[in-house]
Amino acid sequence: RAKAALNQTICFYEVSMDEAARGRRALANDLWEAVERSELALHYQVQKSVTTGDVIGYEVLLRWNHPERGLVPPNEFIPLAEECGAILPIGEWVLRQACREAASWDAEYKIAVNLSPVQLANGDVVSLVHSILVETGLDAKRLELEITESTIIDDKERALLTLRAIKALGVTIAIDDFGTGYSSLETLRAFPFDKIKLDKSFMSEVEGSPQAKAIIRAILALGHSLQVPVLAEGVETQKQLDILQAEGCDEAQGYLLGRPAPIGSVVGVRTEAA
Ligand code: C2E
Ligand code: MG
Ligand code: MG
Ligand code: MG
Repeated sequence: RAKAALNQTICFYEVSMDEAARGRRALANDLWEAVERSELALHYQVQKSVTTGDVIGYEVLLRWNHPERGLVPPNEFIPLAEECGAILPIGEWVLRQACREAASWDAEYKIAVNLSPVQLANGDVVSLVHSILVETGLDAKRLELEITESTIIDDKERALLTLRAIKALGVTIAIDDFGTGYSSLETLRAFPFDKIKLDKSFMSEVEGSPQAKAIIRAILALGHSLQVPVLAEGVETQKQLDILQAEGCDEAQGYLLGRPAPIGSVVGVRTEAA
């Protein structure tokens, strides 16, 4: 009987694996059409100076309004888009749309756009960024690209050359989710980043964990001796912000300061159309 039960479990497992695979394939098909069907949208989340409270810029976060599934969060479709290659047209859309929107604001805030490792590995990314800046008229210094460490791990030499060429356009580069990779210090040594974004997992622990606080302090010291500003992600409470202020953190982003939202409802930015 145990064996029958086991067989049943295995069959069930295989069926659900199959269904999961089918679901992924269907979703991947939909992904390719999402851009054309205008199902993608951008949300913006404010980034502020910890010392002055001034708005520095906005991170651009992609949203997918699927016709049947509703709002699909990026963590569910970006890995899939990277696997099936749809991240290239999607990433291009994000970059063009974000630059176009930001160019129409009445304020000179920066925008921070996430760049996938797949986009970076594609030879056209430098000319793509360049032509989108020309096309939209956005000042290069208002654009920041956020990359994670995993981006540089695969083909390091090539990735660093590409990043240098992007920087030469006047665009800045931030290292995202810092502290979660395994080669953080090596990555910092190899490339002159313009900003370090401390991963949000540190924020969720900072109030209760002296270890988390010690690591934050060390990363701040590192950033400052390299003359690179540090932004803390995932700031949700005033207590966390107070700690960051006491520790000398430069910038912050998180629900406490503002949730990601469509540009129309972001306070402080007016578009020409509005
Ligand atoms: P990320 O770049 O690290 O973005 C920060 C994520 O943290 C966002 O999740 C944001 O909504 C969330 N967040 C902001 N403040 C808080 C907070 O106070 N508490 C908590 N718990 N979370 C907070 P989101 O929008 O779901 O995006 C997830 C990830 O998807 C992003 O992480 C980024 O890696 C990726 N992503 C989003 N948009 C794009 C895109 O256009 N292109 C690419 N390649 N990746 C993107
Ligand atoms: Mg990011
Ligand atoms: Mg992050
Ligand atoms: Mg992330």
